[in-house]
Amino acid sequence: MKIVFTRKIPTELVEPLKEKYDIFMWDRENEPMPYERLLQEMKDADAVFTNVADRIDKQLIEQSPSLKVISTMAVGYDNIDMEAATARGIAVGHTPGVLTEATADLTFTLLVATSRRIVEGMDVIRRNEWQSWGPFLLTGQSLYKATIGIIGMGRIGQGVARRAKGFDMNILYHNRSRKPEAEAELGAVYCSIEELLRQSDYVVLLAPSTPETKNMISHEQFEMMKKTAVFINTSRGTNVDEEALYQALKEEKIFAAGLDVFETEPISNDHPLLTLHNVIALPHIGSANVETRMKMATLAIENIEKGLAGERLTHIVNDEIYGNGK
Ligand code: NAP
Repeated sequence: MKIVFTRKIPTELVEPLKEKYDIFMWDRENEPMPYERLLQEMKDADAVFTNVADRIDKQLIEQSPSLKVISTMAVGYDNIDMEAATARGIAVGHTPGVLTEATADLTFTLLVATSRRIVEGMDVIRRNEWQSWGPFLLTGQSLYKATIGIIGMGRIGQGVARRAKGFDMNILYHNRSRKPEAEAELGAVYCSIEELLRQSDYVVLLAPSTPETKNMISHEQFEMMKKTAVFINTSRGTNVDEEALYQALKEEKIFAAGLDVFETEPISNDHPLLTLHNVIALPHIGSANVETRMKMATLAIENIEKGLAGERLTHIVNDEIYGNGK
């Protein structure tokens, strides 16, 4: 059986698989495999090890007649045509849980860095513009006892809330359903999205990318936020209307934004958001610590091996292929 790896991952993870499987691995770590090349390799593939940057669409699924497992090294799977995969009975695996704490760390890092203008401060020194201590030089927003509003209080959202507790923050959240355990453990208060936007000093977006969440934060939502609010998005770029975000930041309707994800990735250095002083932008590195990435890759391989052995994947997205209904 053949497994296609769309990125180069550490040899120690792939080498043991060579005894059992025919392995194709794209030989670049930080460069995507061209779609046409992927189509070609998938013609006789039984499984694909993929990631957020690949487009696993209907055409690719249709042109992969032997495909049994799609395994993404991510928790989000919005780059995969789930309908096409499920219709064919192809198991789709992902890696929830193992990346929760790393992504919560990065989200909170962005929150601190954005509120206290850390990157701007560094730039002042680099440009040799630091002339003296100034009473209001690079003043930011308070964190201690501030109100954080988390939209998408799932695994990572709750991880961020645990960190916020350390800063004595008031925690608001919004989901489609309430999370009684988060309310009990973290003192988080459930509220409507409108109430959350109006009351929060920090608005953190951690809902998945779905048709329902597309552009869920747009002009109307930025209008509701405080002028001093900091907006953080570490979920998916498609959840935010980027043009509306640009306007809100430029017109100082909100204080600043910290972003790890964008509508179209990668962005280049001529992206309009990068012309603004009050933005910190990162190249989708939410889960990027070595330990976490190794765990994600290991879990994604485990999903493939289970799927190819005819077993239920450790973390399956489309459970309905096993007749469990959705
Ligand atoms: P999760 O445990 O499934 O949490 C997602 C939460 O979003 C759930 O509590 C869900 O609650 C809520 N939600 C879903 N639809 C919603 C809607 N329409 N409005 C409001 N809330 C909604 O997932 P997770 O592991 O925390 O990951 C969250 C997302 O983070 C992933 O989907 C992924 O896109 C992103 N992520 C990014 C990075 C990165 O590198 N930046 C890394 C990992 C994950 P209800 O179902 O009750 O609404």
